[in-house]
Amino acid sequence: MGGVRVLLIGSGGREHALALSLAADPAVEALVVAPGNPGIARTARVAPVDPLDPSAVAGLAVETGSDLVIVGPEAPLVAGVADAVREKGIACFGPSAAAARIEGSKAFAKDVMRAAAVPTAGARVCGDAREVAAALDEFGSPYVVKHDGLAAGKGVVVTDDRGAALRHAEGAGRVVVEEYLDGPEVSLFVVTDGAAALPLVPAQDFKRVRDGDEGPNTGGMGAYAPLPWAPPDLVDTVMTSIVHPTLAEMRRRETPFAGLLYVGLALSDGGPRVVEFNARFGDPETQVVLPLLSSPLATLLYAAATGALGQHEPLRWREESAVLVVVAASGYPGPPRAGDAITGADAPGVLHAGTTRDADGVLRSAGGRVLGCLGTGADLAAARRAAYEIVDQITMDGSHYRRDIALVAANAVR
Ligand code: AMP
Repeated sequence: MGGVRVLLIGSGGREHALALSLAADPAVEALVVAPGNPGIARTARVAPVDPLDPSAVAGLAVETGSDLVIVGPEAPLVAGVADAVREKGIACFGPSAAAARIEGSKAFAKDVMRAAAVPTAGARVCGDAREVAAALDEFGSPYVVKHDGLAAGKGVVVTDDRGAALRHAEGAGRVVVEEYLDGPEVSLFVVTDGAAALPLVPAQDFKRVRDGDEGPNTGGMGAYAPLPWAPPDLVDTVMTSIVHPTLAEMRRRETPFAGLLYVGLALSDGGPRVVEFNARFGDPETQVVLPLLSSPLATLLYAAATGALGQHEPLRWREESAVLVVVAASGYPGPPRAGDAITGADAPGVLHAGTTRDADGVLRSAGGRVLGCLGTGADLAAARRAAYEIVDQITMDGSHYRRDIALVAANAVR
């Protein structure tokens, strides 16, 4: 493949990582990122667009002469951006709106898993408070309550407090109450054209805001890959018992899932079970998985977007480890303070997630998770050192980050 023109949709740390890997693929002739961010602008041309407007994205794809559109976040997929791009005859890496429901509706995902006999938490879809109360008592504590629709990471509570579980369901419309899954969590990304599927290396992220997994949930405060502690047959087991049955069920429903299937797993005593499916690359795990992939990324995603993944060569990986530490704004995960000046963020290894440049060219915070500091090295300990060296070069008033990203895993392999 040669001379492919790529349009990438999104503006976060995940898209910064995608942009760097796409730009490194010699097959890429042009790369436009919309809307992008100030970090991405150092690597690619950025263009304004409303990512949630399918016809605007499709129009930009035509205008930029793109051969391949890659959709980063979930909301544009659920809004039908991939369908609108394909209607223009342009290849798109990302599922149709119908297939993106596997992320967009927890109840739909549960129904697919039930039909495909995929191991997951037992669950009840509840329409009112009486049903919620009954389901909480059926499964017992800890209680897991999920809003049905997209909620940008805010839709799930896991709590021992029955009152808090009931309050989370109040006014939320349809909710899913689930059995609690115990065991370490793993994120597995699978590139698929709907039939063929290639897994990437498993990663782990850190959801809680403070060291030792204390404090409220966030969108993710850091991540690392690979997982030296993961069972060697984990990926094969997940492909056989979870991914292929799920893809087959989506084909059976005539809504094949093509794009990135994110499998969030809990490694319970009975084996891996699905915590959630997402319809796109996860953030921040993407930032540690892609630097380890040595196969060219645009070539891979183009094969998936054109139904040719079955002919793709096996993926090649660097024998390295990667660690990402997120630097968050004051107040996050509550409402973050915006506008703090940032220095040190133009260094290699710094991925921009929530930044903006003011009229004077000063870089300022513009989101909860502001930067990701990426370290790579021969093992997790070396990758951690590299990541925290970058963190030490950043200044931003009121910023905070976790000091224990990948710490336990790095110590365990010593
Ligand atoms: P989700 O949006 O479904 O990924 O849920 C967000 C987070 O809540 C997950 O990453 C888990 O840490 C936690 N969680 C979700 N479902 C369960 C479950 N059934 N048991 C235990 N933890 C869960």
